Amino acid sequence: MKSSQKLHTLSIITLLFSSNINANKIPTAIAQVAQAATKKVNLVMPNLSDSQIIGKTTGLRPYRTSGIRIEAQKLANDRLLIHNYGHGGAGLSLSWGSSDEAVKAMEKSLAEQNIAGPQNVAVIGAGVAGLTTAHRLRNKGHKVHVYAQLYPPHTTSNIAAGVYSPFSVAVGDSEEQKQQFERMKAVSYAALHELATSSNPEFQGVHILDLYDFSQNAAGQPVEVEFDNGVKKNGTVKPTLFMEGCTYIQHLYEKLLEKGVERTYRTFYYADQLERLPERIVVNCTGLGARDLFDDQELKPIRGQLLYLKPQEGVNYLATEKTEGKKVFFSLYPWHDRLIVGGTLEPEKEEYHADNKTRQEMLDNARQALRDDERK
Ligand SMILES: Cc1cc2nc3c(=O)[nH]c(=O)nc-3n(C[C@H](O)[C@H](O)[C@H](O)COP(=O)(O)OP(=O)(O)OC[C@H]3O[C@@H](n4cnc5c(N)ncnc54)[C@H](O)[C@@H]3O)c2cc1C
Repeated sequence: MKSSQKLHTLSIITLLFSSNINANKIPTAIAQVAQAATKKVNLVMPNLSDSQIIGKTTGLRPYRTSGIRIEAQKLANDRLLIHNYGHGGAGLSLSWGSSDEAVKAMEKSLAEQNIAGPQNVAVIGAGVAGLTTAHRLRNKGHKVHVYAQLYPPHTTSNIAAGVYSPFSVAVGDSEEQKQQFERMKAVSYAALHELATSSNPEFQGVHILDLYDFSQNAAGQPVEVEFDNGVKKNGTVKPTLFMEGCTYIQHLYEKLLEKGVERTYRTFYYADQLERLPERIVVNCTGLGARDLFDDQELKPIRGQLLYLKPQEGVNYLATEKTEGKKVFFSLYPWHDRLIVGGTLEPEKEEYHADNKTRQEMLDNARQALRDDERK
């Protein structure tokens, strides 16, 4: 058994919170903020009172113990199956890179069979992995048909708060997997950065916002924050890619339909059902669904809960405070129609029903995180 497969619950949480180690690996100028003199910033304090709460959500991150599965399998009758699932808590961050790898795996297999030119391809799944894979294939001239049980806005990808955070996902043990992971980060980062900075982006909803991190030993430029209610806090700040999930996923989806990609609502119960599709090439982007469909016991969901508050003027920044080993952490994400406060990392919890105790803990934790440093 690989070492990464031996992780028990506690060590998964510890791994997920190792943001200082991982943050050093972000392959971009953005992460490499020069250590400068402490910056002073004034911010609007979010109102976290109960009266602001308008909703809550729970989702399951498709964490896979040996990393995202990108693999081509040749099936009987010249059929080809490509896997692209297991993105954990980093699907929005890594999907452009993983779809690039999946399409390359497909092209390599086709080349080995001396098959060239546009193909008919089925993509199973309409979360961020399926949608970005379908875009890549369509842009390369293939005829694409998406089959899925659920479409936006009802996928896990729609729940993702949307910070570029390629961390709560396993990298894999082999050198090849590590290199592939670095490629996925680089390709995704470049694609998202282009969307955030272009004057005419292909998909809306990707921005660069300042992320204030009040965790101990956080990476980034040191900052002294003074909120408009007088609270003072020390932390770090760094510009961070932010995908406003509801807008971004919806745009990915609508643009696919505009490009003539076909869509069928369909649930698959057995893998061999895929072999009876009219398309000879199938890309499997079913996220956690792959656990049952392909009996992949490496998929270990990590539940996440978030609170939705009324949108608040002036709160146009990201904030976080994490404590190693704690399942509840503070995070703040501003969407145009709500302010999201989170969150949780709950390994192997699968219930979707409202867990009011954890939600109260999340709110108390957020209020505590935004207390004046002197009075904490
Ligand atoms: C609370 C929370 C916060 C998050 N925050 C972030 C973040 O800030 N940044 C980030 O990068 N990531 C974040 N994530 C992680 C991100 O949401 C996931 O990594 C991502 O959604 C995985 O995408 P996916 O397309 O693989 O799966 P999904 O979005 O779950 O899509 C799977 C698709 O496959 C279909 N499907 C599954 N099984 C079948 C079947 N048998 N037959 C037919 N169709 C099937 C589904 O209907 C769906 O269309 C967060 C997740 C949660 C829960």
